Amino acid sequence: MNNSVFLAEMTHKEYSEKVAGDNPVVFIPVGAIEQHGYHMSMNVDVILPSAVAEGVAKQVNGIVAPPVVYGYKSQQRSGGGNFYPGTTSLDGSTLVAVIKDILRELLRHGVRKFCLVVGHFENYAFTVEAIDLFLREARMLGVDDARVMAFSYWEFCDDPDVLKALYPGEQESWAAEHGGVFETSMMLYLRPELVNMEAAVLHSSARFPVYDMFPAHKDWTPEPGTLSCPAGSSAEKGKMILDDCVAGITEVVKKEFA
Ligand code: ZN
Ligand code: MN
Repeated sequence: MNNSVFLAEMTHKEYSEKVAGDNPVVFIPVGAIEQHGYHMSMNVDVILPSAVAEGVAKQVNGIVAPPVVYGYKSQQRSGGGNFYPGTTSLDGSTLVAVIKDILRELLRHGVRKFCLVVGHFENYAFTVEAIDLFLREARMLGVDDARVMAFSYWEFCDDPDVLKALYPGEQESWAAEHGGVFETSMMLYLRPELVNMEAAVLHSSARFPVYDMFPAHKDWTPEPGTLSCPAGSSAEKGKMILDDCVAGITEVVKKEFA
């Protein structure tokens, strides 16, 4: 018997028996292909929510669906901007349609408990829109027992000791995070071969005006594409973040889907 938590690694028989027997929560990471500075690969926003989803799924006997790999357009004040080569984004309507199609297919399989694990800030509103349209459609089909949870995983990193270790200066937090100590530490823990700390550029957190300009003023973004400084990143801190997020999410998943 295959013990994988990953939907794509199960046979259809293993999957359908688990769905029918356990009514499991199915987790869907929602990521992006987006530059993360000179020192990290562009799949950070896919790898991190996938690892969080895997950790939680193992705690709650859930299933992790394949991630949505592409996300909504990188915005300058949250992800550096969509103008970097390599950053590869979807129109909002496309992202909504992709998420809604996946939810509808899982519903057809018999899944009734869904959890969207957002790994890219810009995806959140589109994820919520997809959920709303999905639930409206499901109700029209006469299905009224589907329940969907959504969150951006980093909001569960709230242990004061972890935050103090990550941000010893009081000003900094994950609010300015893009390729900084938070994401870099998680990557050093999970996929160190995709991080090159020698290429990391140390700079103070980006400071933006409270408005956007389109087309963007590219020079508003620190040149490497990161918005906060990756200095002080470590695999040990990455494990602290992952453990904190998995623990907090496990608790609310158990509560909401009991
Ligand atoms: Zn990111
Ligand atoms: Mn992002």
